[in-house]
Amino acid sequence: MVVNRAENPLRAIPQVDELLQRPSLQPLWRELGAQQARRVIRETLEELRARCAAAPEAAADTLSAGLAGLEAELETRTRSRLSPSLRAVINATGVVLHTNLGRAPLSAAACQRLGEIAGAYTNLEYSLAEGRRGKRDTHIEALACELTGAERTLVVNNNAAALLLVARTLAGGGEILISRGELVEIGDGFRVPEILIAAGARLVEVGTTNRTHLADYRRAAGPATRLLLRVHRSNFEMSGFTSRPRREELAALGAELGLPVAEDLGSGCLLSPAISGFAEEPTVSECLAAGMEIVTYSGDKLLGGPQAGLLSGKKVWLDRLRAEPLFRALRVDRLTLAALEATLDAYARESWDEVPVWRMLRARDLEARAQSFASRLAPAWQAAVEPDESPVGGGALPGTRLQSWVIWLKPSGYGCMELAERLRKAEPPVLARIQNDRLGLDLRTVFREQENALLQVFESLQS
Ligand SMILES: *Cc1c(COP(=O)(O)O)cnc(C)c1O
Repeated sequence: MVVNRAENPLRAIPQVDELLQRPSLQPLWRELGAQQARRVIRETLEELRARCAAAPEAAADTLSAGLAGLEAELETRTRSRLSPSLRAVINATGVVLHTNLGRAPLSAAACQRLGEIAGAYTNLEYSLAEGRRGKRDTHIEALACELTGAERTLVVNNNAAALLLVARTLAGGGEILISRGELVEIGDGFRVPEILIAAGARLVEVGTTNRTHLADYRRAAGPATRLLLRVHRSNFEMSGFTSRPRREELAALGAELGLPVAEDLGSGCLLSPAISGFAEEPTVSECLAAGMEIVTYSGDKLLGGPQAGLLSGKKVWLDRLRAEPLFRALRVDRLTLAALEATLDAYARESWDEVPVWRMLRARDLEARAQSFASRLAPAWQAAVEPDESPVGGGALPGTRLQSWVIWLKPSGYGCMELAERLRKAEPPVLARIQNDRLGLDLRTVFREQENALLQVFESLQS
């Protein structure tokens, strides 16, 4: 289009209605709907006007270029509106529990169960055996108790909610004793002590950062004390001159003082070290067996299920938690219960490798997979396969480094940050590692079924 500089050049910009009626754009607008189409057109034209206004001396050129690319620009914006905001990505970082990437991917069985339950009416709160109202707790409780040795298990929205419920119900208006070495910040500014205070409890810090003794708890306990709380140092390690009471000792003190003893276990590992390979990670059943009366843990960390908070322990306390009105505000829906039941079922059948988190954490074939994938990338991409380590992530097992194999790439012609950006913007989006000006793919967290899609993404990019 020729823009006449003598008149107001902005007059050359078409009207919204003209673009809405333009025959070549009809297929786009049919997909988008008239109302959103109007919005996309208006936004696009406003930006074009703003670009012209920002550089008056080059306005005519900006305008010509903008008008020439107008239809393509409208198409791009329409596509971006039509694509969902929450999308599946390929996690090639090797970090199994990546909180920013949604932590644990669900097992095939859990996904299938979700498909069956999501669009249907269910017996969520109905007893089919008795033909009357039932409780939503029943669907996972027996299974979870079998796996942990607990008398009761409740499910809420996440572990933070579980802690909130415990603190509010058992210690609201009273005091919680907690070691100074366990005042944990989880991530994204979430701090365990702040949740406890938000629940209306007062914290009484005992001991010192590195050492807390049983006598510290005993000395601090008074008439307002309601709860002894132990918090798993899930995302940091302490070494050197350190100590804290054993769980058995804390439990005995609780019994002596007539106070409940709870543990925030965070990652919620259900597998014994012999199977998990993580000697230092306490299991839920181990904590309960050692006398903890309530153990709270996440559903989407080492358990490998949906986002949820589980509370396992003694019936006396869990009955109280269940009866607290706040429970209603924290309870989970049928989708969470469906996915959780299917996940726990894999543990009950001792088929841990059905749970993606455990399949990835226990993977032993990473070198072969990396070599084979690197050879498929060649010759377009020069790749070096090197041994490396992956952290577990998600605030779990801070001291554990998993032996891994990483495929390192260095694009010629452009930088590695730009490659990372192109990968993020690809379909499907790919997240990789960046280190020393190289981009790394750790196939630990890439499903075998995703390898072809990953290869296609690289084929679509220039090396
Ligand atoms: C992760 C974690 C939490 C928070 O759990 P969410 O399920 O993310 O709410 C609380 N406490 C500990 C010790 C944790 O590791």
